[in-house]
Amino acid sequence: MRPDRRRLVAALAAGPGLLAGCAVPVPASPPAAPVPPPAPPRPFMIGSPGQALMPRGSAPRVVVCGGGWGGLMAAKTLRQQAPQAEVVLLERNPVFFSCPISNKWLVDMVDDSFITHDYLAVSQRHGYLYVQCSVTRVDRAARRVHTSEGWLDYDYLVLAPGIRYHYEAWFGNDRRAIDATRARFPAAYVPNAEHHTLKRALKAFRGGDWVMTLPPPPQRCPPSPYERACMVAWWFKSQGIKGRVTILDHKPRPMPIGPGFQAAFNELYKDQITYVPNAQVQEIDPFAKRIRTSAGDLRFDHAVLMAPHQAGDLAWHADAIGRDAQGRPSGWVDVDPLKLHLKGDDRVYAIGDAVGVVAPSFRFYPKSGHVAHAHGRIVGGYIAQRLAGREPAVVLPDNLCYMMVNGSPREAISVQFDYRLNAVDEIEQTQIDDNDRRASLVAENFRWAGLKFGDLFG
Ligand SMILES: Cc1cc2nc3c(=O)[nH]c(=O)nc-3n(C[C@H](O)[C@H](O)[C@H](O)COP(=O)(O)OP(=O)(O)OC[C@H]3O[C@@H](n4cnc5c(N)ncnc54)[C@H](O)[C@@H]3O)c2cc1C
Repeated sequence: MRPDRRRLVAALAAGPGLLAGCAVPVPASPPAAPVPPPAPPRPFMIGSPGQALMPRGSAPRVVVCGGGWGGLMAAKTLRQQAPQAEVVLLERNPVFFSCPISNKWLVDMVDDSFITHDYLAVSQRHGYLYVQCSVTRVDRAARRVHTSEGWLDYDYLVLAPGIRYHYEAWFGNDRRAIDATRARFPAAYVPNAEHHTLKRALKAFRGGDWVMTLPPPPQRCPPSPYERACMVAWWFKSQGIKGRVTILDHKPRPMPIGPGFQAAFNELYKDQITYVPNAQVQEIDPFAKRIRTSAGDLRFDHAVLMAPHQAGDLAWHADAIGRDAQGRPSGWVDVDPLKLHLKGDDRVYAIGDAVGVVAPSFRFYPKSGHVAHAHGRIVGGYIAQRLAGREPAVVLPDNLCYMMVNGSPREAISVQFDYRLNAVDEIEQTQIDDNDRRASLVAENFRWAGLKFGDLFG
């Protein structure tokens, strides 16, 4: 199917608010009515975790935990394909913020309204119930989810928690160092206020050493730190800022789309980017602004400190994390690779970045919004089939990522992954890197984003 570019262009032309669904044109004001005196302040009601959040009706209930790229698509698909079910989305944020496209937002190529969306508006549009709360525990034996606002029971559960940072790998239990790192040098790899802190730091940067520590694999969106480095370097170059971006990479070379990134580093940003391969972080001092790595030590003026990634908290709260060969937590959710439910609990599904090993050859699906979105649709469909009493047929995702490497002219590179089942029912992956940076891929990137946002929110 060809992407429908007209929808994206029309939405962009309509300006802030249309895609966000939150900025409504203000009608002409009626004559001013007398303003009533302010109501006396009431105590802020936070629900009690010990109360039932909502009574159980006769409809089967599917609870989706996490309203990111995967969870939103699962909730929408369930409403469409299982109209008899009650669908509840639990999400801790009031507003969706897209990590895809956020590197372009960082350097003002798109505005807030393109990448932020109102959860309440979209839930009302699609007909599922959105509850803003934090999931604190899942009692799988009782099929009950506990949240900051109360508990609710489920027939099927979808875990879509995304990732969390494993700062303890760097700092052990030193909370002071963890809090300082999170507050001053955030990775901006989860959808929350960290992105704004990063953007403020970039806008305030007047020159010097800007260091990025890349997380070791498996990690969320492996090519996106290189894209971010290119966007920051382009910002320095275009603003005349004497800054140098140092990329500390665990890997021996950039991957995927390595030659495309290397060409951008060498040809566009020789004076702005230093790429350091095989640089495992050994020690970080966020107070003295010092980093020790296996490839050498350095000081920084600002840093984007990306700790290793793991499945998000709520996967741990659901006791859904797998074990490695030594019996230690693997950090990722242990799923049936084809059906995406937990091994040993077919009422609980996991989707998106949190998913663990799915194949012996390539191990993890790329941790991308594209895959999470596909997982949401697949698992929504699986549950709908089961609610209708049918055994679902296996569906595999695909993946497509565009990475902008140049701001003037605007140019991008891209990578595509496809999946198929082999003769012994193992998933096989093929990867196509497109290293030839060009403007048409930027147009495709925005077309891709417009279609995905249209699908999630339209
Ligand atoms: C800079 C950057 C650029 C990227 N670029 C691309 C790109 O170009 N293309 C692409 O395909 N992917 C890209 N990605 C990757 C993409 O963002 C992720 O792969 C995608 O968001 C994963 O979707 P998810 O649903 O698994 O997790 P998320 O989208 O992170 O959603 C998880 C949700 O769960 C919520 N949550 C977590 N714990 C709780 C709890 N206890 N209670 C309640 N709610 C909870 C979170 O608030 C969040 O909303 C990029 C990522 C980054 C950081």
